[in-house]
Amino acid sequence: MDFSTEIKYLKGVGPARAEAFSKLGVDTVGALLRFYPRAYEDWSNIIPIRQAPPGTECCIRGVVSYAPTKVRIPGGKFLSKTCITDGKGILNLVFFNNKYIGNMLKEGEEYLFFGKITVDKHGIRQMVSPLISKGEDKDRIRPIYPQTAGLSSKLTEKCTMQVLKNCKEIPEFMPPEILAENDLCSLDFAIRNIHFPESFEALDKAKKRLIFDELFILQLGLLSIKNRTDEEKTDMVLKKDCTEEFYARLPFSPTGAQKRAIFEAFSDMSSGEPMNRLLQGDVGSGKTLVAAALIYNTAKNGMQSAFMAPTEVLAEQHFRTLSKIFDGTDIKTVLLTGSSTEKEKREIKKAIRDGSADLVIGTHAIIQNDVEFLRLGLAVTDEQHRFGVAQRAALSKKGQNPNILVMSATPIPRTLGLIIYGDLSVSVLDELPPGRQKTETYCVSQALHERIYNFIKKHLDKGYQAYIVCPLVEEGDSDLIPAQEYCKFLQNTAFRGYRLGLLHGQMKSKEKDNIMRDFESGKIQLLVSTVVIEVGVDVPNAVIMVIENAERFGLSQLHQLRGRVGRGNALSTCILVSDAQNDEAKRRFDIMCKTTDGFLIADEDLKMRGPGDFFGSKQHGLPSLRIADILTDTKILEEAQKSAQKIIATDGKLQLPEHKNIKRRIDKMFGNGYVKA
Ligand code: ADP
Ligand code: MG
Repeated sequence: MDFSTEIKYLKGVGPARAEAFSKLGVDTVGALLRFYPRAYEDWSNIIPIRQAPPGTECCIRGVVSYAPTKVRIPGGKFLSKTCITDGKGILNLVFFNNKYIGNMLKEGEEYLFFGKITVDKHGIRQMVSPLISKGEDKDRIRPIYPQTAGLSSKLTEKCTMQVLKNCKEIPEFMPPEILAENDLCSLDFAIRNIHFPESFEALDKAKKRLIFDELFILQLGLLSIKNRTDEEKTDMVLKKDCTEEFYARLPFSPTGAQKRAIFEAFSDMSSGEPMNRLLQGDVGSGKTLVAAALIYNTAKNGMQSAFMAPTEVLAEQHFRTLSKIFDGTDIKTVLLTGSSTEKEKREIKKAIRDGSADLVIGTHAIIQNDVEFLRLGLAVTDEQHRFGVAQRAALSKKGQNPNILVMSATPIPRTLGLIIYGDLSVSVLDELPPGRQKTETYCVSQALHERIYNFIKKHLDKGYQAYIVCPLVEEGDSDLIPAQEYCKFLQNTAFRGYRLGLLHGQMKSKEKDNIMRDFESGKIQLLVSTVVIEVGVDVPNAVIMVIENAERFGLSQLHQLRGRVGRGNALSTCILVSDAQNDEAKRRFDIMCKTTDGFLIADEDLKMRGPGDFFGSKQHGLPSLRIADILTDTKILEEAQKSAQKIIATDGKLQLPEHKNIKRRIDKMFGNGYVKA
């Protein structure tokens, strides 16, 4: 059987089921073999009823004491009951609405039952809707697959079994020395045992091999995207140190942490090897200034810089901030976003190409094909977690081994950093600019709105500014007042006579820009906004952040939002408004009220959401993984990294014939086109 055979040609799979398979991403026989079980049922370990621990899933062998009885229950449904015994213990069985159970279970016969043990109100052990086997599943570890409508785990199991029976040995792609060095089983063994494990040891071996494969391919792919090796040199070298000159231009002195980070980055950039540095610092720690110092040096050394931000609001803000800092120098700064007009774009691109623009700030518009730099010396990415690996790589490919600085408020575990940035170095801004006070945080119920409004007004009257953030409005969210209406409502009631502004995602970029400008200049006192405000916005005179329906936001998001205030010297307040009663929301609020430490919050967020979610591909831009978990499979990851580096060292472009299949797998994981030879 050919792995590219379409799934609909399998026995028992018609067009409808093929459709269902397709929903799960399975279109071919090959994809079916890569559709791994999400869990296993252990039918090989039969537990005596009296020893079966409540709350766990187990396999019980027992004789049916009487034919199942049927009882009607409200809602036109019915319930069947029976009990089984293994000679020593009794187990009650309950089934809901199961028409076939009477025919399936015969009095006096023996079956295997698999399910979760619970205890009923009389203290007797029971199983609700267990799986039943006439004994044919004895001694087996059975796979459980993710399901979808019209496709049961059992059917997937049957199909997979059919394919495995009909296919000869699954061909190996991994070089034999890598298999030997890392004590890995063959691919054939791994695939067969991930679906139908001979034993739990065999399952572990299979898992290890498949996890290794995935991380190895991921790592190789990233290495070849970067196409960087240790001995790499660059011509983008800082010869002249103009840092002191830059400091002299600032209205304040940099913090010790900022100076240290700038020094570290400058050392990289003057070394002759390209910099690859992550700048990690909590919201408000002043990362932009570090970038500005390096951009200044880069320009003074005759090279260009690119500064990429995830949103237009942020790109525009950076443009204003940096233009101000560089005002009076000969550094020419341009802004390129998706909403620049065609004419503007043409002129800006020309300036980038002929080198008259020293600094280009923009959104991902600056990685478009037709943007060419004359001499790109430094590529900065702000809020790195918002970009994909490929986007960052595209930015650095705009030059010849430019220096790379990525900035982030979200701490990432070192292993993940290694994967994403390879041999990255890290600078940490662990110090806030002087005079900052901790933002006070409160969680209040909706009933307190009047008091919140009065509190805001008191501050507006003193000349301060404030934000009110509402969650994004989705269809069917009838309980949420859309930001627009809410703004109108506030303007006509509590805030009559005050200057309100509205910012939301559907606005044109020019409108957004105007609103942000007016807020920055103080023309707008109270900004009502959706989450577009979340990333990086910096208006130090704003001292109150009200977050409506706060239960709708994740912990890191709440922290990011709170980071919009507390940026000046005045005491700031963050008010979380919510009537939510669920424990998870309450726990988030609790953490928010207790701490302002971003590292601690990221850690809690990770714990609460689980790594799969936190490090889902949306967060870091990596391809999604099927079986490996970057956070927990660290040991295998290190092994895979070593092996990947070895391959790259001998065959950097993966051109040797024995690496052909590896390369095919990389292309598949990253989507064709990402990895160029
Ligand atoms: P983030 O790290 O969140 O990107 P920003 O770079 O936006 O932080 O800086 C936050 C605010 O702190 C800005 O208003 C900036 O001007 C100010 N700032 C940065 N460094 C200093 C400093 N050394 N002293 C005083 N204010 C500073
Ligand atoms: Mg920032």
